[in-house]
Amino acid sequence: MRDKIRDYFEYLSLFESELYLDKLPEGSLDKIPQPELDTSVSPGSGGLNPYPSHAPYDSLEVMESQVKGCLRCPLGSQRNKFVFGTGSSRARVVFIGEAPGAREDLKGEPFVGRAGELLNQMLQQIGWQRSDFYICNILKCRPPNNRDPQPDEISQCEPFLHEQLRLLDPLWLVALGRVSAQVLLRTKAPLRALRGRVHNYRDKPFWIIYHPAALLRNQNLMSEAHQDLLTLKRMVESGEGLSGV
Ligand code: SF4
Repeated sequence: MRDKIRDYFEYLSLFESELYLDKLPEGSLDKIPQPELDTSVSPGSGGLNPYPSHAPYDSLEVMESQVKGCLRCPLGSQRNKFVFGTGSSRARVVFIGEAPGAREDLKGEPFVGRAGELLNQMLQQIGWQRSDFYICNILKCRPPNNRDPQPDEISQCEPFLHEQLRLLDPLWLVALGRVSAQVLLRTKAPLRALRGRVHNYRDKPFWIIYHPAALLRNQNLMSEAHQDLLTLKRMVESGEGLSGV
C-alpha cells in the first residue's frame, strides 16, 4: 500500500506543472502586476538577503549567490532547495518552465527526473546537447502540494528571470509548456493557438514547445513536439525569425 501511495504522488508530481494553470481562478492571470525593477536593496552588499534586489548583478554566479536565500514570497520559506537554473552561460537558447516540481525542489536543478530525461533525449534527437543551452523556471521555488501559483508570486519572481535573461542575452527564448507560455505572454489562449508561431518576450523571439511531462502523458504528441524542435533548430541556426522582433 505504501508503494502504491508513493507511486501515485510521484505520478502526480510529473504533471503538476501542466495542471496548475487549470486550477487558476478565472481572471487571475489578469491580476499579475507588471514587474518593476526593485532598487530598494543594493546587490553585492554581502551575505544572503531574504529580500534580494532583482537587478543588476555582474554574473549569474553572483546573482545566484545573492538571491538563493530569497523570501520575497511565501514559497521561499517552504522550499527544500532554491532552483535557480542550469546550463551554459553562452547559450543561444534559454528554455523556460514555470516552476520546480517535487524532484527539482529536492535536487535544486530544473527539469530532472523522467520529464527532464525526455527533454534531454528530444534535444539529442535533433543533434543538440542540453549542456549547450540554459534551462530555468519562472518561479525559483516550488509551489507546495501542487496548488495554484499566485499572481503575486509570479510578479515577485519574474524579475529574477528578466535579470537572468539580461545576463545570458540569448538569441531565442523557448517556453516549456502551456503554463509558462500563458504566464509569460499574459494570455489565456490555448497551446494549440500559441504553438507554431514566433512570439516576443523581452524583445527576444519566443517559441513554445510541449512540456515534456505532457509528452509522457500523451505519446501521440511526440511527433508534433519533434517537429516543433526541428523548426526551432532551423530558425536558431539560420537566423530566421530574428527580424521584426
Ligand atoms: S519563488 Fe521567487 S520570489 Fe518567491 S521566494 Fe522563491 S525566489 Fe523568492
